[in-house]
Amino acid sequence: LRRRACHAARLGLVLACLPALAAAAALPPIHPKARGSATGILMWHDIVPGKKLVWFDTTVAELKAQFAEIRRLGLTPISLERLAAHLERGEAVPKKAVVLTFDDNNLGLSQHVFPLLKRYRWPAVFFVHTGYVGVTTGKPHNTWDQLREMERSGLVKAYPHTDTHPEDMRKLTDARIARELTRSRQKMERELGGPRVYFTYPDGHFDARVAAGVFKAGYRLAITEDRGLAEASPNLMMVHRYSMHRRPGEVLKALGGGR
Ligand SMILES: [Zn+2]
Repeated sequence: LRRRACHAARLGLVLACLPALAAAAALPPIHPKARGSATGILMWHDIVPGKKLVWFDTTVAELKAQFAEIRRLGLTPISLERLAAHLERGEAVPKKAVVLTFDDNNLGLSQHVFPLLKRYRWPAVFFVHTGYVGVTTGKPHNTWDQLREMERSGLVKAYPHTDTHPEDMRKLTDARIARELTRSRQKMERELGGPRVYFTYPDGHFDARVAAGVFKAGYRLAITEDRGLAEASPNLMMVHRYSMHRRPGEVLKALGGGR
């Protein structure tokens, strides 16, 4: 919050921050019993067989090496439902738990990630912009049928990542924010069944107003791209996540080292 919503504090204008702080204070807290654990949510986007098309692509070879490293370090992938029960109600999670998350529903997830998940028998979460399901934009995206088929394995679960993937939700009106959140949740609950109440912010952009909008739309957990342990998050609408696009080796080593 200090960094995202309250730049004025750096200038000593503390009073200017009070509305943002009040909004954040009203958001649901991390359960105190969860605070003793150390869980890392990991973020990838598309997984590609050959050359990367964008900087946040990961090659199949890189992902395979990272999965092998996750196993070697003794990290334990858990489902997002389990993490939510931990953060909301203080239920226990394994030591060195991680949650594997993939944003943007690229076809590479069904082609390259899903076979790997089956081999390792690991759960993963796909955050899907519902307006582009089955649509090719710059890249092709999985269809509802493909998502349904992957969910039948019990390993993959899809959750909303807005409807149209606005690049910065902070620039949207309250009404537009509500529309993005409600539409994506309703579409997904209609296609895949519900409830679909966990969310990731497009490009990790949020502030206290956006986070309050997510909470108001009925979501129970919202995940950012702010680096840090899940348990150290300010509240359930601002849950930390580690990008695997920058120094992934260091991220895994830190999580595996039993800090
Ligand atoms: Zn995204």
